[in-house]
Amino acid sequence: MSDDLIDGGSGLDRLFAKARACTLCQDVLPHGCRPVLRGSPTARLLIVGQAPGARVHASGIPWDDASGDRLRKWLAMDRPAFYDESRIAVVPMGLCYPGTMPKGGDYPPRPECAPLWHPPVLEALSGVRLTLLIGQYAQARYLGDRRKATMTETVANWREYGPAFLPLPHPSWRNTAWLNRNPWFGEELVPALRRRVTDALEG
Ligand code: SF4
Repeated sequence: MSDDLIDGGSGLDRLFAKARACTLCQDVLPHGCRPVLRGSPTARLLIVGQAPGARVHASGIPWDDASGDRLRKWLAMDRPAFYDESRIAVVPMGLCYPGTMPKGGDYPPRPECAPLWHPPVLEALSGVRLTLLIGQYAQARYLGDRRKATMTETVANWREYGPAFLPLPHPSWRNTAWLNRNPWFGEELVPALRRRVTDALEG
């Protein structure tokens, strides 16, 4: 599919238009299809998260929520810099909001999505130097057997996955207790994250 989708001078635009028109999961998504992704062939940083939440589903703007605010704080980046898609691409594991479970927390990203859209999209994002793998689903796809037994161990061993990848926990408020239990994250990994992102964007 990728050759057909990314051929031509406006290949990424056409590819994104096709992804944004995707309705593959329309029968199982409780709030319908609204794929959210962004980027350009010049983007050097790729953020692969989980899936849009309810607020992002409403706005169509990735990380337009409290999790995004925390992620930008980790990155020491304001909104204009974060949303400069000539530099930063955002492609979640599921492009559409999967809905919220009765007891809280969102359902997992649709399993059909990344196998369908990531190969052509990542091929077209040819300038990417660093990919942030946020949460267990992104780490499972892109680290595979190199993942540790738990997400905490995977993130704690972040040095093993460079220079292409950097695993991170999800910045959701649900992970506040995790952040408090793992002070090395803020003390060691966040400063390294900022350095790696600066190198990728400006190096
Ligand atoms: S989740 Fe992915 S595969 Fe499913 S409808 Fe949305 S874009 Fe298509």
